[in-house]
Amino acid sequence: MSATFSANLSETSIRPEVLAVANLPPFLMDALQAAFVVHQRLNETDPAAFAVAAPRIRAIAASGESKVSAALIDSLPALEIISVMGVGYDGVDVAAAKARGVVVTHTPDVLNDDVADLAMALMLALARQVARSDRFIRAGEWPNGPLPLGRKVSGARLGIVGMGRIGQAIAHRAAAFGMRIAYTARSAKPALALHYVASPAELAAQSDFLVLITPGGAGTHKLVNAEVLKALGPQGCVINVARGSVIDEAALIEALQAGTIAGAALDVFENEPNVPQALRELDNVVLTSHIGSATGQTRRAMADLAFANLRSKFEGAPLPTPVPECR
Ligand code: NAP
Repeated sequence: MSATFSANLSETSIRPEVLAVANLPPFLMDALQAAFVVHQRLNETDPAAFAVAAPRIRAIAASGESKVSAALIDSLPALEIISVMGVGYDGVDVAAAKARGVVVTHTPDVLNDDVADLAMALMLALARQVARSDRFIRAGEWPNGPLPLGRKVSGARLGIVGMGRIGQAIAHRAAAFGMRIAYTARSAKPALALHYVASPAELAAQSDFLVLITPGGAGTHKLVNAEVLKALGPQGCVINVARGSVIDEAALIEALQAGTIAGAALDVFENEPNVPQALRELDNVVLTSHIGSATGQTRRAMADLAFANLRSKFEGAPLPTPVPECR
């Protein structure tokens, strides 16, 4: 992916210095190392050496889960770009970056299919008890009697919280399951032939399955709270593929334990990679480890785009995918 760029750079022998602040996949690290001088903050064992390099660092390579604080941005006077390999960039202090004239880029669209596929997989796994039945067999319990009955997904009422790129990909899949689809977002999308509902609580009250797919950050913090869960009701299930911060995790645990909602399927958590013991003990819960975009094909496409943003910046070309605040 970086052959041309690497050749150009080695000709000039001035390779921009990049700080990697996440455990990036080898195919991105290889490309970065071929084109740039890469410092790895996670593996940094010599703070003094890092302090020497800091004034030369012109780019940060981050993942969707990375925290890029104002303090880190301030410590890098030559910083020009923060390239996030992920669509969500709620861990980046974009206001601080903008104030310094640093552009932030992300990797939208290339992961829509995978995240939407996982949302459907989680909904089906929860309702049809895929993981629970697997545990049931492995524990040798099948001879003692059947599992309690599951829930039908086809034809059920689906509420989608967030109707952006991925929300629309989920709606597309759910339509093939004959689901009755409604959604909420900051604004209605008249171009979509789907029913818009003004608030998450109102949407929950008319949903069997409530799927969360908004960005994280201050604007959606605990958007799904105890009131929304109560509106979802004892037959309702919540599926979170957005960010852990979008749901009040303590209220969720309480609702699951009390049976005021039927179940939850969660790919994201408040304090990853730590998942509360209470959630791990519940049978009406399906848990995955933030794997929404985690296929080889999609992670490579994300890496290509994250790299293309960096390359474009240092070639003086238009950036493929700056975040909306930096357009
Ligand atoms: P997007 O196209 O920007 O769509 C975001 C949607 O959320 C929009 O419809 C937006 O409403 C809505 N929204 C924002 N704030 C809201 C609020 N306060 N209340 C209600 N709705 C709100 O983003 P996307 O590409 O679909 O990605 C969405 C998010 O999915 C990412 O930011 C990330 O957090 C998450 N994600 C998770 C994984 C994973 O591995 N689990 C992978 C990829 C992405 P408007 O349209 O009205 O503005």
